[in-house]
Amino acid sequence: MLNILFPRVCNGCGDSLLKSEPIICAQCRHNLPLACHHRTKSDAMKRIFYGRFPLEQATALLQFQKKGITQQLLHNLKYRGQKKVSSFFGEWLGGELALLPEYQTIDAVIPVPLHKQKLRKRGFNQVHGFASEIARSLDVQLLDDVLLKISKTSSQVFKKRFTRFNQEEVFSVRSPEKIDGMHILLVDDIVTTGATLERCAEQLLRSERVTLSVATIAIA
Ligand SMILES: [Zn+2]
Repeated sequence: MLNILFPRVCNGCGDSLLKSEPIICAQCRHNLPLACHHRTKSDAMKRIFYGRFPLEQATALLQFQKKGITQQLLHNLKYRGQKKVSSFFGEWLGGELALLPEYQTIDAVIPVPLHKQKLRKRGFNQVHGFASEIARSLDVQLLDDVLLKISKTSSQVFKKRFTRFNQEEVFSVRSPEKIDGMHILLVDDIVTTGATLERCAEQLLRSERVTLSVATIAIA
């Protein structure tokens, strides 16, 4: 039944998948452009946020290339309902982070949220599977109801405060005391300018003694 609705084809190249191949074929998996800053100890991701907010750890699994496999994968995830892409990479990255001492202080994983209208339209948050699998690997809680994306018109205060930003993206934290003292791993699908993660971080860091790390499926 599922195979009729969603034919089992590679999310990278579109060829049919073998039973043993979860979301991409062996060839595409082999060709995936890896970033993996947590392994290489590269600070490429950290540099994006330097001087913008304090950061403990920062990593991305894949390198984004225009017209490359990563772009195809993220497109299938976001626009063709291939939710498994998100959990597949969450399981992968989570498994690697679970082995690294510097990620053992994380208390919770928070996914960058969608606005509720967008969520209704798309039907799912494309970051959810990624976030929940990382939380499971690290054996920490997934907090997906703490950070909210709110409309730009819902608060004059926020509007004023965020005039220097694109006003489409305004985030808010519900019950900020819930994350007091936590080391939060904030996760998103892709980082480009880092603006979205910065806006989220600003809100999360208003809680007391919060420290932040970030992880994304891809970095552009
Ligand atoms: Zn393929």
